[in-house]
Amino acid sequence: MGLQIPMREQSVSNTAEDYLKAVLKIEDRNEKASTSKVARHLEVNDSTVTDMLRKLQSAGLLEYTPYYGATLTPRGRAVALRILRRHRLIELFLHQIMGYGWEQVHEEAERLEHAVSDFFVERIDALMNYPVQDPHGEVIPDERGFRERENDVCLALAEVGDYTIKKVIDSSPELLTYLEKESLVPARSFTLLEKAPFQGPLKLRIHGTHTSSHIGLDVAKRLGSRSTILWFRSSATVVAKTAEQLMAHWIQNQVPTCCSTE
Ligand SMILES: [Zn+2]
Repeated sequence: MGLQIPMREQSVSNTAEDYLKAVLKIEDRNEKASTSKVARHLEVNDSTVTDMLRKLQSAGLLEYTPYYGATLTPRGRAVALRILRRHRLIELFLHQIMGYGWEQVHEEAERLEHAVSDFFVERIDALMNYPVQDPHGEVIPDERGFRERENDVCLALAEVGDYTIKKVIDSSPELLTYLEKESLVPARSFTLLEKAPFQGPLKLRIHGTHTSSHIGLDVAKRLGSRSTILWFRSSATVVAKTAEQLMAHWIQNQVPTCCSTE
């Protein structure tokens, strides 16, 4: 029997779930989850974060080292993956079934992810035919917490060439509205024509259009793209038999996303 992401632990509050999810997202970018980074992510002050990280450490959900930051334990990671799965499935449901704009889904999902039952989430999963990506192109962990390893490159670091947009790592409604207007949405292909020096803008031509557009480096940092030439999708599925192997997989399965947006 495989290890399932635990049913909601009664001791884990909504706030704790938000903290664990924030740490997971920071770790996903291969960055250190420092107190200040978690604070910025959750828009709270540093001392509030320190208190909460200590509590989560006593609950065995993360390791916290003052002046360094937090690292999820396997149990904390399982809780974080569970809430991330809920969030992304709910976003997709709101977008595809309920007709929400992709810039509207995040805030609603932030509330619903804590409220709906596991049954509700699994019904969404089945109804949507077990999707692997949310409306922003982010990977939805499966019910065991697996996520396929991604080979995306942050557009800000990409060389001149042909690419397909895989995901947007920012949920700000203003940015998403702008990207949609510029046709910079997941699955759209484009040619990166030029990168201006000194952190200057990028010149792109969206395939299927004749005009080229410029985007700022700050926007490019939020777009995960994949080279069209090197595009491939691994069909390998990790089959792990024991709980230890699954835990090890969660730990190793750092999903590289975009470059730091700080
Ligand atoms: Zn979201």
